Amino acid sequence: MRLQIKRLLSQTFFLILANLGAFKIKTGFCYPFFYCHGCPAASAGCPLGTIEHAVYKGKLDWNLLLYPLVFFGVIGMVFGRAICGWACPIGLLQRITYPISQRKTIKKISQRFAPSILPYARYIKYVNLVLLVFLTTYFIGFMFTDICPVGFLTGTIPILILNFGEFTPNQFFLVALIIFVFFIILIILSGRGWCKYFCPLGALLAPFNKVSLLHIDIETDKCLHCNLCSDACPMGIDVPNMNRSPECILCGKCIDVCPQKIIKFKVGS
Ligand code: SF4
Ligand code: SF4
Ligand code: SF4
Repeated sequence: MRLQIKRLLSQTFFLILANLGAFKIKTGFCYPFFYCHGCPAASAGCPLGTIEHAVYKGKLDWNLLLYPLVFFGVIGMVFGRAICGWACPIGLLQRITYPISQRKTIKKISQRFAPSILPYARYIKYVNLVLLVFLTTYFIGFMFTDICPVGFLTGTIPILILNFGEFTPNQFFLVALIIFVFFIILIILSGRGWCKYFCPLGALLAPFNKVSLLHIDIETDKCLHCNLCSDACPMGIDVPNMNRSPECILCGKCIDVCPQKIIKFKVGS
């Protein structure tokens, strides 16, 4: 079976798992990817929401904090950022919008409006993780979960539909709506723009790519420098020179297109 079909099956499987709450199945754990526990069909808790509860207003709950950190530490050490490529439903959503972002007219628009700081924009996700998820919650209170576009998509919108006419928006609703519209425009114009630039969970997993057991290995001495791999990469990586890039989501698209077959998944160093 082709790699990308296997990946689609895997992503669909995890999307179904994430929504088993629709059948009254609740795991009591947090998701190993980005999904909202506010979703009416949620089967687990949002990992970022769990972190926020653990540090809320300076009342540190070490058990609650260590749980997602150790959980993602183990996942990261074994799989690196493969969770992003193979399991996360928000990754699946962006896989669906990616072909739109590759259309000529959309590419023209995004290139025209892409600010020159874009290469540095990848660091915003680390700022989001530290500032919005940890520090703001520690010193002020919940912030990220109130304005999270993933929460808006998988929690607020279904709740609005299911409770039509009865939903009372809180004071963050308008801000959350604006951020959600920005999120939709971003993933249409930029493919995996949310993962590349903004996702705090991607930021938590990204550094593990440098040390994970599973990673992408390239026999660079046999490279033709045809650039097919970099053109196919949804994360915009210069693949032959990536050196276990923190941005790699191990989707395997570069493996599929390399004419030399020199890009492989590798377990171990
Ligand atoms: S970066 Fe975030 S949204 Fe994107 S696939 Fe990874 S966990 Fe999901
Ligand atoms: S480098 Fe290859 S495996 Fe990694 S994100 Fe890009 S295409 Fe996917
Ligand atoms: S597709 Fe293969 S041969 Fe072409 S640049 Fe990438 S690694 Fe080199």
